[in-house]
Amino acid sequence: MESGLIATYVPELVATSFVVAVVASYAALKTTGRIRASDPVARRWWLAGGALAMGIGVWSMHFIGMLALRLPIRLGYDIGITLLSLLMAVAASGYALWLVTRDHVTRLRMVSGAVVMGLGIAAMHYVGMAAMRMDPAIIYRPLWFSASLLIAIVAAGAALAIAYRLRDNAHHERLHRLLAAGVMGVAIVGMHYTGMAAAYFPAGSICSAALRDGLSPDSLAWLVVVVNTAVLGTAIGASALDRLLHERTARLSDSLQLANRQLTHLAMHDALTGLPNRMMLTDQLQERILRAQLAGERFALLFIDLDGFKGVNDAFGHHVGDALLVRVADTLRRVASADDTVARLGGDEFVMVTRVTEVGEATARGERLLAALVESTRLKENDDVAVSASIGIAQYPGDGEDAQAMIAHADVAMYYIKQAGRNGLALYAPSMGEEVQGQLQLTYELRKALERGQLVLHYQPQVRALDNGMAGMEALVRWQHPRLGLVMPDRFIALAERVGLIVDLGQWVLDEACRQWAVWRRAGARVPTVSVNLSPVQVRGDCLVAQVASAMRRHGLPPGALTLEITESMAMLEPERTVAVLTQLEAVGARISLDDFGTGYCSLSYLAYLPAHELKIDRQFVRQMTTGSRHAAIVQSVVMLGQQLGLDVVAEGVETPEQKQMLVAMGCSRLQGYYIGKPRAVEDMPAQVLQAQPPAASGTHG
Ligand code: C2E
Ligand code: CA
Ligand code: CA
Repeated sequence: MESGLIATYVPELVATSFVVAVVASYAALKTTGRIRASDPVARRWWLAGGALAMGIGVWSMHFIGMLALRLPIRLGYDIGITLLSLLMAVAASGYALWLVTRDHVTRLRMVSGAVVMGLGIAAMHYVGMAAMRMDPAIIYRPLWFSASLLIAIVAAGAALAIAYRLRDNAHHERLHRLLAAGVMGVAIVGMHYTGMAAAYFPAGSICSAALRDGLSPDSLAWLVVVVNTAVLGTAIGASALDRLLHERTARLSDSLQLANRQLTHLAMHDALTGLPNRMMLTDQLQERILRAQLAGERFALLFIDLDGFKGVNDAFGHHVGDALLVRVADTLRRVASADDTVARLGGDEFVMVTRVTEVGEATARGERLLAALVESTRLKENDDVAVSASIGIAQYPGDGEDAQAMIAHADVAMYYIKQAGRNGLALYAPSMGEEVQGQLQLTYELRKALERGQLVLHYQPQVRALDNGMAGMEALVRWQHPRLGLVMPDRFIALAERVGLIVDLGQWVLDEACRQWAVWRRAGARVPTVSVNLSPVQVRGDCLVAQVASAMRRHGLPPGALTLEITESMAMLEPERTVAVLTQLEAVGARISLDDFGTGYCSLSYLAYLPAHELKIDRQFVRQMTTGSRHAAIVQSVVMLGQQLGLDVVAEGVETPEQKQMLVAMGCSRLQGYYIGKPRAVEDMPAQVLQAQPPAASGTHG
């Protein structure tokens, strides 16, 4: 035994083998974190990669150690056995990695794992030694051999324990991992050299692997270099890939967050104007209330609704309507201070929440806002058509406990000002709720009234000023309400216009008036023309001309037998369009009358273009005519203007004989009013009203 071959070691290679062992351990430890952070499929790949890296590392370390061994004979290595030892190293590493990356590892499992891994590494080592195919076989000294096995198991146990502890710290504790890798490196190297120390090469041993076609040490060196380069390359590639994947994941989660932010923005904002929507308003309002409670602050909620927005949409198209809404939103943003909230609730409804210090301040803010809105919503430059708004204001504290109540009460106040004539503002008062409730009820009932035939027409005669002859009848609508009695149009026409009932209502009036004309005619009464009042909404719509033509045709009215009264201000609203519609109405045989003339600032040049047949002097002029000469002068000039333009001039609201006398003297051609005859239901009409050519006497009927 003593006279065996003397084994020496090349120190540089020993050092290299240690470094390789440490690097392999480090790589293996790093993969444990990756393995655990991956999904099941990636996990398997990381496990395989880790096992390969560590196995090759351990195996390389072993063969570098072998290269460090110098024996005084030629050495070689059997390729098959060499590869078998590599397989064992990989298998042992794989098992170890699998074990430490399990969720729960019991102590017993850890110990048995250490035994399996230690024995695996030892097996790799001794199989690797066997690759030299020494003849006679290597003799292992039992003590050293046992020590090497023990060291392998203890080292494996230590390595597993460290790896288990560090497994989830994939990104931190680099120093820790390096230290752990050092321990593992020492263990593996220690096992190797103990194993080498156990080996006794009897004198005269020859390495049969060197004689046959085994690998020479040079080739082995090359193999180790190639394999290690490959492993290193793979490791670098894998970690680069991993980093790439990580970056991609990071980018993905970035864009996910962005998408998420955009989605929440979408859910909380109005798409057209970019303003917060009702949802976000409610949120912010709740916060505001909380803040106001804590700090003892006041704030006002302004509920803004545009007047006549639907008309703009109908007349100019949705793109103009949308542009208008955007402009309103911009105005609100501009007027609002940094601490205010501006939101769009939908349609033409906006809300502004603003801090106020005293009750009166809310009104001032509302008025400033109204002015800014009118200024910014002019449809065209130098255009009179501006959109006004109605603003309802609720204040905190006082007008509501929570966000919902605040919005609802401001809405009620807005509704109230709408009813009171629009273009203004109202502070919420609890009594408004009832009135609004009443309006809602009335709206509902009006809808039903149309279906149930509760509407009736009363007729007011119009006579020729010269001979009191019947000139025509004006149809005035009334609502025979089951509970309220006879409801006058002032109370429901504006409502019908607002809630979209006016078109149906107007159609009914048209048809009923034409039908009545035909009845009178059949009865032998001579009514030259029946007058029907039109709403601006009807003139703006598309179906008026067809409705008029159809009603006249159905009831057999000749041209001129139907007069349509439009107010002067209505004619001024959209001049071009109005002229077009009136021209068409004239073409189907209707007469056109300009109602309430003198109140709408109709420009005279424009008047000349209007296809009108009649002017009706507003009754306020007639009433004031007798008191002030200024009004008499106005009436006189309107009469002369009508004559110049070849129009019939009708004076409304003639209540006294004096008024009649003055009008006749001025040359007014037709008269209408209580003094001439009150509006009456057909069945209440005195017979002589309808008699053809009544005597040219005083002719009062009411
Ligand atoms: P208007 O077209 O100016 O109708 C004349 C109004 O003056 C009628 O009120 C009539 O009763 C009233 N009146 C007549 N003579 C005198 C008088 O001597 N003195 C005074 N103080 N008043 C007199 P009414 O029937 O309450 O109608 C009010 C308004 O309702 C009408 O004003 C008209 O603009 C509107 N209206 C009536 N019927 C209809 C309809 O069928 N469709 C539409 N769109 N509007 C209608
Ligand atoms: Ca009228
Ligand atoms: Ca009138």
